[in-house]
Amino acid sequence: MRIVTLTLAAIGVAITYHAPILGMLLVAPMFIATLKPNIQWLGPVVSRLPTSQKEVWVTIDDGPTDDTLAVLDLLGREGVKACFFVKGVLAEAHPERIAAIVERGHTVGNHSHTHPSGTWWCLPPHAIAREIDRCTAAIPATTLFRAPVGHKNLFVHPALRKRGLQLIGFSARAFDAVERNPDVIAARIVKSLRPGAIVLLHQGREWSLPAIEKTIQAIRGRGYSFLNTNR
Ligand SMILES: [Zn+2]
Repeated sequence: MRIVTLTLAAIGVAITYHAPILGMLLVAPMFIATLKPNIQWLGPVVSRLPTSQKEVWVTIDDGPTDDTLAVLDLLGREGVKACFFVKGVLAEAHPERIAAIVERGHTVGNHSHTHPSGTWWCLPPHAIAREIDRCTAAIPATTLFRAPVGHKNLFVHPALRKRGLQLIGFSARAFDAVERNPDVIAARIVKSLRPGAIVLLHQGREWSLPAIEKTIQAIRGRGYSFLNTNR
C-alpha cells in the first residue's frame, strides 16, 4: 500500500510539474489533512473537551520515561490528574511505571508502539495497525489514541474506528519537545487556553519537570482548574 501512496505522490508531483497550479490545488489539501494535527478532513479529531467552564485537560506524551515517578509526584503535589500518552515500546520495558500512573489515578492513552514520527504519515494500513495494536497490548484498556506528532493519513481513522479508539488532538501546545525554557513553555500554553482546552506537554526531556510545574501553575494562575477525564 506504500506503493499506492508513493504512486499517488508521484502523480501529484508530475501534475505539479506540468501544470503547477492545478497540481498544487489537487495535492495541497491531502498534505494539509495529513500533516496538520487537528484538521478533521480525514475523520474526527478531539481537540477540545465540551465544557464552558474554565477547566482544561492535561496530557503528557512520550513516556513512560525515567522521570515518570517524579512527574507523578509533581502532579500529586499539584492535585492534577493527567492523561499519559505512552509509547508501547517503553510501556513494555517498564510496566511498573504504567502501573504507577494508573495507581495514582491518571489515565493512560495509546501513542503508538515505536513513535515513528518521520514515517507515520505515509505508513501503509498493516504498519499503522501493528503500531496501534502493539501499544494496546502493553497498556491498560483505553479508548484514547494520539498519533505521533499529530500526523495522520487515509488509513489511520479506519484503523482507529475498527478498534473503538478516538483520535485525540490538542488545543494548547508549546513545542516543549524542543523548546527548553519552562517560562516560554508556560507562556505559550496559557496564551491558547480556552474552556475545555487539551494541553499537550511532553516528558523525558531534562527540562520536562520544571516545564510541567511552571505550566500547571501558570494555568491555575489564569483561574483554570484541571479536568480528570478518567475514561
Ligand atoms: Zn509523541
